[in-house]
Amino acid sequence: MSAPLLGQMMDVPLTLSSLIAHAARHHGSAQIVSRRIEGDIHRYTYRECEARSKQLAQALIALGVAPGERVGTLAWNGYRHLEAYFGVTGFGAVCHTINPRLFPEQVAWIVNHADDRYVLFDITFAALVDTLAPQCPNVRGWIALCDESHLPAMRTQVLCYETLLAAQDGNYAWPELDERSASNLCYTSGTTGNPKGALYTHRSAVLHAYAGSLPDALGLSARDAILPVVPMFHVNAWGIPHAAPLTGTKLVLPGKDLDGKSLFELMEAEGVTVSAGVPTVWLGLLAYMRGAGVRFSTLDRTVVGGSACPPAMLRTFEDDYGVQVIHAWGMTEMSPLGTLSRLNWEQSKRPREAQQALLEKQGRVIFGVDMKIVGEGGQELPWDGVTFGDLHVRGPWVIDRYFRQESGSPLVEGWFPTGDVATIDPDGFLHITDRSKDVIKSGGEWISSIDLENIAVAHPAIAEAACIACAHPRWTERPLIVAVKKPGAAVTREELLAFFDGKVAKWWLPDDAVFVDDLPHTATGKLQKLKLREQFRSYVLPTALAVEGCPFDSTQDVAKHD
Ligand code: AMP
Repeated sequence: MSAPLLGQMMDVPLTLSSLIAHAARHHGSAQIVSRRIEGDIHRYTYRECEARSKQLAQALIALGVAPGERVGTLAWNGYRHLEAYFGVTGFGAVCHTINPRLFPEQVAWIVNHADDRYVLFDITFAALVDTLAPQCPNVRGWIALCDESHLPAMRTQVLCYETLLAAQDGNYAWPELDERSASNLCYTSGTTGNPKGALYTHRSAVLHAYAGSLPDALGLSARDAILPVVPMFHVNAWGIPHAAPLTGTKLVLPGKDLDGKSLFELMEAEGVTVSAGVPTVWLGLLAYMRGAGVRFSTLDRTVVGGSACPPAMLRTFEDDYGVQVIHAWGMTEMSPLGTLSRLNWEQSKRPREAQQALLEKQGRVIFGVDMKIVGEGGQELPWDGVTFGDLHVRGPWVIDRYFRQESGSPLVEGWFPTGDVATIDPDGFLHITDRSKDVIKSGGEWISSIDLENIAVAHPAIAEAACIACAHPRWTERPLIVAVKKPGAAVTREELLAFFDGKVAKWWLPDDAVFVDDLPHTATGKLQKLKLREQFRSYVLPTALAVEGCPFDSTQDVAKHD
């Protein structure tokens, strides 16, 4: 067999330093604006960001950090955190963003598992660092992201970020790295068991940034200003800190204040055109805007993902405020972008209701990701928009194996099983119906908890709702709605249950509804259904009591829906 004819183009590796180098050289004066922990607004350019990232790289090298070693961050969205994104990875070390909202024991476990050499932290996390330091003996130093005048009083001896940078001249050339070397490390939130690490490569992160910038993804350009509300400690803020320098987009970083008023004021002051975040954040923003009677003057579109965007929220953004919602689905193991709800030419000519039905789904994949749904036997299921299956994905920014779990690949025949249950319609639009462990199995059929939650929050008196499975002697499981009312709103259990009539198949109708003051959330803002199920473990549905004989006699035959 003759050797393949190799192409004759430059073999320039895809590295993260090339993103900030490009932005500094070709979008040098584009702005990065940060609301600082210190309280003020900080403003500088990509040119200055690269210069300081180089100083950080020099400082870490001087501290003895070697390529491949991990440097942790415990920080909000801000310019110093951004410098870590490029300064740490630029010389081959790995930027390990840690979620500070996890329990301290979990954070310590993650720091030790990642074997972080240094940890950069925002001064708001000083107390957390004091708790962590004795539990993390392998960390050589904790670096406070501030200047000397803002160093907090702490038990732990810490280094000062600005002092470290000031000792370096920034005269540093980014080294050429192997594009397959590790660049970033993020841990899954680990709602069950220990968190697992996803170790990205320079190549996967750059390809992900390219795809994430495309018109049918975030559609970023040098004319945009983007405010990522999604934290830089959650899957690299969905790749925005990489995509923004790639496209020369103005970057607005909101710091720690993510309440509706703070976000709204920053968006208005900085002319933000695009934003991105989880539904809970947008709940706060919309509630503030409604109360204050204010409107966006520049916001054009917002990406909603991380958990399902309720159609009611989508409607409010679009109908009341003229802001386009892009519903996105992804996960830590996918860097995270997988699908986005953008219509094609033909779909955008369909009647408005048909367009809306599509846009409520999680959308179609971007180039780089392939997906399929499979049945229990692993057979591929049809894209008919009705058949539920386990969602599997693959692509160059999808995980191959977890960090430091070298044995035991998570893949099934080369595909990554996401743990999500979904339908795919003939348009190729994905609709996530559940996490596989949250699906409600009634009479051998599956009921989508997300679909029922979306209906509940469409009720004008409901602020938030979760739908969980409750044990049932006849059907095995039946849906229970656990809802939080809007402040001052009144609705009865019967009224809420009646609200579902005609909106879903009869056998999907929830068996009961209860009201609570608040719902448990994970550190990334998702409903913590495991905890909720534990809370309601002994809850007996009225429909279960109505079953003749012993309500929980497991010897009874389980009924099947017609
Ligand atoms: P994480 O790795 O923390 O980003 O969580 C990923 C998981 O969040 C996915 O596997 C889904 O279960 C869920 N998720 C993310 N985006 C969406 C969405 N738009 N709709 C429904 N679930 C979502």
